[in-house]
Amino acid sequence: MVSKRRKINWRRLLSSIQFKVALVFTLTLLVTLEVIGAFFVKQLERQSINQLRTQLTLKPYVTDSLTEQLSNGDQTNADSKIHTILNSINNPTINEVMVIDAQGVIRGTSQVDRQDLVGRKDTDQNIRAALSASKYNRHPIEERDGVRYQLVIRPLINTVNGESRVVGVVAVRASLETIYRNLDNISLIFLSASVLAVALGIMMAIIIARSLSNPLREINRRTIRIAQGDYGGDLEIRSNDEIGQLAENVNDLANQIERTTNSIDFERRRLDSVLEYMTDGVLATDRRGNIEVINTTAAKLLNIEDANQAIGKSILSILKIETAYNLRDLVVGRSELDLDFSNDQQARHLQAYFSLIQRASGFVSGMVIVLHDVTEQYQLDVERRQFVSNVSHELRTPLTSVKSYVDALQEGAIDDPALAHSFLTVLQDETSRMIHMINDLLELSRMDSGTSRVENETVNIAELFNYVLNRFDMIIANDDGQSQGKHYTIRREIPDVEIWVELDPSRFIQVIDNIMNNAIKYSPDGGVISAKLNDQQDEVVLSISDQGLGIPAKDVQHVFDRFFRVDKARSRKQGGTGLGLAISKEIIEQFGGRIWLESTEGQGTTFFIALPYEPLDLDEDEWDE
Ligand code: ADP
Repeated sequence: MVSKRRKINWRRLLSSIQFKVALVFTLTLLVTLEVIGAFFVKQLERQSINQLRTQLTLKPYVTDSLTEQLSNGDQTNADSKIHTILNSINNPTINEVMVIDAQGVIRGTSQVDRQDLVGRKDTDQNIRAALSASKYNRHPIEERDGVRYQLVIRPLINTVNGESRVVGVVAVRASLETIYRNLDNISLIFLSASVLAVALGIMMAIIIARSLSNPLREINRRTIRIAQGDYGGDLEIRSNDEIGQLAENVNDLANQIERTTNSIDFERRRLDSVLEYMTDGVLATDRRGNIEVINTTAAKLLNIEDANQAIGKSILSILKIETAYNLRDLVVGRSELDLDFSNDQQARHLQAYFSLIQRASGFVSGMVIVLHDVTEQYQLDVERRQFVSNVSHELRTPLTSVKSYVDALQEGAIDDPALAHSFLTVLQDETSRMIHMINDLLELSRMDSGTSRVENETVNIAELFNYVLNRFDMIIANDDGQSQGKHYTIRREIPDVEIWVELDPSRFIQVIDNIMNNAIKYSPDGGVISAKLNDQQDEVVLSISDQGLGIPAKDVQHVFDRFFRVDKARSRKQGGTGLGLAISKEIIEQFGGRIWLESTEGQGTTFFIALPYEPLDLDEDEWDE
C-alpha cells in the first residue's frame, strides 16, 4: 500500500507567522547565549591566567639569593649556588625557572633536561629588553613544541650604595595547557547548553507561535466563509487578549453582515415582487444602455417571450428605435417617447418614460424606463376623432341638401306650388332624419355617460317578444300586407313558456323594432322573417332571420360600430343613421346580455340576442308548508 505523503508548501511555511516567530526567537536566544558565552569564557581565561601569574611569582628570598649570586664574582661557585636555589623551588605549577645574567647568558635552569642551555646566550627579545632596562612585556606567552607557556620575566636588581643595577633576569615558565583545556571544556559545556537551549527555544517558539497562529488561522477560515456567504458558526473566544478581541469583532462583523445581507435580500425580493406585479413595464439599464432589469409586464408589452433573453441587450434594439435615436438622445433631453408595437394580431401603443440613475456627483450610472400601455387610450382617441368626423360628415350631407333646396325655393321654385310642395317634403324628410340622428346620438351619449334612464321590470320575455312581433303583423294587416312598401311574412317559433327576464321593456322593444326594421329594409320584397325563442336554462336566446342581402364577412364585425353601414348611400336613402345597432348593442349589454349575428351574403342574416335569467326552480314542497 502506497501511503500518500502530504506535500509541504515550503513557501507558505516560510512566510507563516509561526516560522517567523520561531526564527526570531531562536536567533535571539542564539545570539544572547553566544555573547554571554564569549564574554564568560574570555573573563574566565583572563582570571585563570592572572591567577597563574600570581602563582608564578617567586618568594622574595629566592630572588634575593639569585641577585646575590649573580653579583658574585666567582662564577663557577655562583652557578652551583644558583643550581641549588633553583632545585629548591618546590612549586608544582612552575615548569621551569631560568636565570640569565646581565650579559644575556643562561646561568641556570630548573628543568633537568634543559641543562645544556646553561652557558648559552638567551635570544628572547623580552629578556634582552628587561636586561637593558627598556620597555618589555613582563608576561609574554610563548609556544614551544605545540605547548603554550606563560612566561613571567622579572629583572634582578642589586642596589649597592643607593645605586641600582640590573644583574640579571629570572624567567618563570608555566604551561597554559591545563587552563586552556579547562576553558575548552567550559566552552563545550556552553555549546551543549546552547544547543539544548536553542532546541528548547524552538519548541517553545513553536508552541507560542501555534497558540498565536492557530486562532488566527481559524479567524482566517471564518472570514473566507463569510466572504462566501456562510455567516453561521461563531468563533470560540478562548482568551481576552488582542486575538480574542479580534475573534469577537469578526463574530460581530459576521452578524452585522448577515443582518445587512438579509435586509438587502428582503428589499430586493420586495422590489422584485413590486416590479413583477406592476401593471407598467419597467426596464433598467447600465450606463452603456444595456438591459439589467426587465419585469414580466415589460417583456409582455415588448413581445419578448423570455425576459432573460433581453438581459445585456441594448435598450435601443429592445425598443426598436436604434435607427431613429442613439443613447445620447435618450440621456439628453428625451424623457418621453411614443412606441408602436402593433402587429398583425393586435394593436399595441406604448408610452416610454426615461429617467437617469445619477449619483450625487452627477455621474450617470444607468437609466430606468417605464412603459405604459396606452393602446386603449390611443384607440379611444382614434375612435373619438373618427366619431367627430363621422358626425360632421353625417350632418353636412343633409344640411347641404337642405341648403340647396332652400336656395332653389328662394330662387323662384317657391312660385311653382307643385315644385315647392315636393321640395318642402324633401326638407321635412331631411330635417326629421337629422332630428332622428341627433336623438340617437344623444341617447348614445347618455348611455356612454351612464345617465340614460333604465326602468327594469321582470317580464315574461316570450310574451313581450310576441307583443312586438304582433305590432309588425298589425302593420302588415293595416297597410295592405306591406311595410316600408314591401311585402313580407313573419314566421314565429316561440314556445309557450314563461321565462322571466329583468329588463326595461320599452328599450327591449326599441331593439327588436330596429332589428325587424333592418330585416325588412335590407330584404327584397316578399321575404320571410323568422323569429325564434330558444330557452337555454340560464339564458334565453332570441333570433330574427331574414332572407335579405346578407352582410359581407369582412363587415360583420363592424355592424355594431357607430355610423357603420355596409352601403352608405342605400342606408341613407332609407333614412338609416348607422346608429341603430350601436344603440341596440348598448341596450342589450345594459341588460347583461349579448347580441351578435350570422350572415351569408345574398342569402340572409340572423341576429341573436341572449339574455340571462334565473330559472324559477321553486320546490313545490316549499309552497305546501
Ligand atoms: P341603419 O340605420 O343604417 O340601418 P343600423 O345600425 O341599424 O343602421 O345598421 C347598420 C348597418 O348594418 C346597416 O347600414 C346595414 O348595412 C347593415 N344591416 C343591418 N341589418 C341588416 C340586415 N338584416 N341585412 C343586411 N344588412 C343589415
